[in-house]
Amino acid sequence: MSDATPWLEPVWQQVNRARLQSRLPHAMLLAGSEGIGKQLLADRIAHALLCEAPDDKGEACGQCAACGWLHAGTHPDLLVLKPDEPGKAIKVDQVRALSAGLAITSHGGRYKVAIVCPAEAMNLNAANSLLKTLEEPTANTLLILISAAPGRLLATVRSRCQQLQAPTPTQAQALDWLAAHGVQGEAATRSVLLAGGAPLRALGLHESGAEAVMAECLEQLQALSEGRLDPLAVAGEWQGDDIALRLGSWRQWLQWLIRARLVPVDKVASDVAQKLQTITESVDCKALYQFMDRIDSALATLGSGLNRQLLLEDLMIRWASMPTRRQNNVMQGSR
Ligand SMILES: [Zn+2]
Repeated sequence: MSDATPWLEPVWQQVNRARLQSRLPHAMLLAGSEGIGKQLLADRIAHALLCEAPDDKGEACGQCAACGWLHAGTHPDLLVLKPDEPGKAIKVDQVRALSAGLAITSHGGRYKVAIVCPAEAMNLNAANSLLKTLEEPTANTLLILISAAPGRLLATVRSRCQQLQAPTPTQAQALDWLAAHGVQGEAATRSVLLAGGAPLRALGLHESGAEAVMAECLEQLQALSEGRLDPLAVAGEWQGDDIALRLGSWRQWLQWLIRARLVPVDKVASDVAQKLQTITESVDCKALYQFMDRIDSALATLGSGLNRQLLLEDLMIRWASMPTRRQNNVMQGSR
């Protein structure tokens, strides 16, 4: 099955065992990095609970009427709470509607399941409202909170959920998953690197064309550090709508440069490894950390009205004139 997510299997098994032993919690917090498949896992759990005839492994059958509604997204006992628009807050009215929905008896006579994603998008009023539902659970309901930033949830909300940590896959697992979704070779490796090892995020980066932009950034950074490109020209080129993507990818590459210093990069596909090595040979580790701080500041000031051209020119000039490793003689691997 192309949607197989073997790295999430231990968490699924843990939940499935609890289900078979009738000791499911009324709320769980599914935490883990962005883009590793937490939503897929939450759906799998919800489907297993709502299916009329789960198989002997506890999986939804995919055949019954309930499974049909689930696939159509119309099952009345599965409630999904998310922001009206990506990046916006989940508001208190939405939580109230969810709580009211959970209070109604299940249509199928089984569970009622609510998925909140991303849970950290709840504003304070919304979180406080959900807290009431968490503290007065009704029978046969399961709330699944999904979060890549559980530390941003109210501590009281966190403490009333069973916490499950979804692991990030190995690089091989991530590449297998991408291959099953039609992305292979250097593009797959680069996408996985840029996504911090998260396969679903990697696929998103690839499909949106972001990976191609990020790959171009790497080429330009290499050329800048080797004096083959003019910093002002590159700054001019970066000024478009995707400035946040470019700065974000710069930051991501820096993280990989630092990592390449600390661990061998021979497992990384040759093309990427070579580019990383070319840069790491000429730029020292401490400077890379300081540069990441500068990019964080730049990202934080985007949209504040500061002159983007000046901001980028400053970064590019600094990057192009970074002290070389040989001059600085910084110890490898120190941080
Ligand atoms: Zn079914």
